[in-house]
Amino acid sequence: MQRQDAEKLELKKPYSIPTNEAEFQKVEAFIKGYRHFIDNAKTERTAVNYTEGEALANGFKPYTFGQKLKTGDRICYVNHEKSVFFAVIGKKPLDEGCRIIASHIDSPRLDLKPQPLYENSGIAYFKTHYYGGIKKYQWTAIPLELHGVVYRADGTRVDINIGADANDPVFYISDLMPHIGKDQMSKVASEFVPGESLNLINGSLPIDEDGGVKLKVLSILNEKYGITERDLITAELTAVPAIMSREVGFDRALISAYGHDDRICAYPSLRALIDGDVPEHTSIVMLADKEEIGSYGVSGLFSETYVDFIHSLCDATGADFYACKRGSVCLSADVGGAYDPCYADAYEALNSAYLHKGVVISKYTGNRGKGGCSDASAETISKVTRIFDEEGVVWQVGEYGKVDQGGAGTVAADIAHYGIEVIDCGVPLFSMHSVNELASKYDIYEMYKASTAFFKS
Ligand code: MN
Ligand code: MN
Repeated sequence: MQRQDAEKLELKKPYSIPTNEAEFQKVEAFIKGYRHFIDNAKTERTAVNYTEGEALANGFKPYTFGQKLKTGDRICYVNHEKSVFFAVIGKKPLDEGCRIIASHIDSPRLDLKPQPLYENSGIAYFKTHYYGGIKKYQWTAIPLELHGVVYRADGTRVDINIGADANDPVFYISDLMPHIGKDQMSKVASEFVPGESLNLINGSLPIDEDGGVKLKVLSILNEKYGITERDLITAELTAVPAIMSREVGFDRALISAYGHDDRICAYPSLRALIDGDVPEHTSIVMLADKEEIGSYGVSGLFSETYVDFIHSLCDATGADFYACKRGSVCLSADVGGAYDPCYADAYEALNSAYLHKGVVISKYTGNRGKGGCSDASAETISKVTRIFDEEGVVWQVGEYGKVDQGGAGTVAADIAHYGIEVIDCGVPLFSMHSVNELASKYDIYEMYKASTAFFKS
């Protein structure tokens, strides 16, 4: 065999970057929508509100368990305010399985403790307990927003969303100046900002000349929201970076934002479902909560609620649930780590994903010998890569990092638990789980193309 023939046998690794102006324009329009979403949906609750609103505005109807459904019906089901499922009933009976894309809409952040409010040395603070895997030192000295709900003693609810608007105040965690940081700087990075130091400054004025900054904050909270210190016990309040998405680089090809993981897969999958025609197989988009803390909890995918939903769709269309599960395929749509040359030691270059190289398919995640992952089969990889190839989707494969360097988990194991064929596929990122993550515009759009192709299959 001649060299030129042998070269044809090599794996091609194309760019996801468009090759013509019309495609560039399509990407720009899509990214504009994505940025609006990510800047306005920084928690699972706000992401549920946002996506439900998008779906309802595009012909989807709220679904109640027990309802009957037919081909072409477009439905959404909000689960405990913090996860949401969307479906379009396909032409084939559900006995032949469905096409599911499951991603998550929670991101690492700082949650307020149940008794958060205190004062010390003339400053009022909220104590926090971090949620998900963070580098704690990144959360000091940056502006923070506060989102969530509080229930008053009489059971009425108050929504709090403060800090996103440029006219809003923000919240802040102080850091120690380097001038007197000798002891701190000699500690390892996981310890130099202890979890109990992640206290949110929320006020500094006393209520009167005798002091009382905590009382002053309580009085403001009561005037503005009608709540008391007792009500804060019910509160689900979360601090997230007050950082808006931005284009990065002279060429503007990258997007930095808080919480790409995993709204960067959630948004394209839902858009594909909304924009698509009536599919052959029933198409389902699941936007889950609690992934960052192991998917436990009633709004996480470890909960049976999601299979109940599929079961209910089967009942609603007269299909057999067990046949449906056996025939279904799921993309566990979650971000992958892209090879970062500034931290090359943590990666294995050949089996890493790269920015601008399309969606990343991961056969396995887990850590130390694939521990805890679902390890997709050859048959599943073959099925999904052929679907992508047929529709011209740019894809690559990638591991999380080099062997024994650490690892990660996704919702794939929870999906596989119920006997549904599943594989991880998502958008590669730099700076995953940081306060400001980085992704390629073109890979985000490729996730939309991948979702569209998958639902058409
Ligand atoms: Mn994720
Ligand atoms: Mn994550």
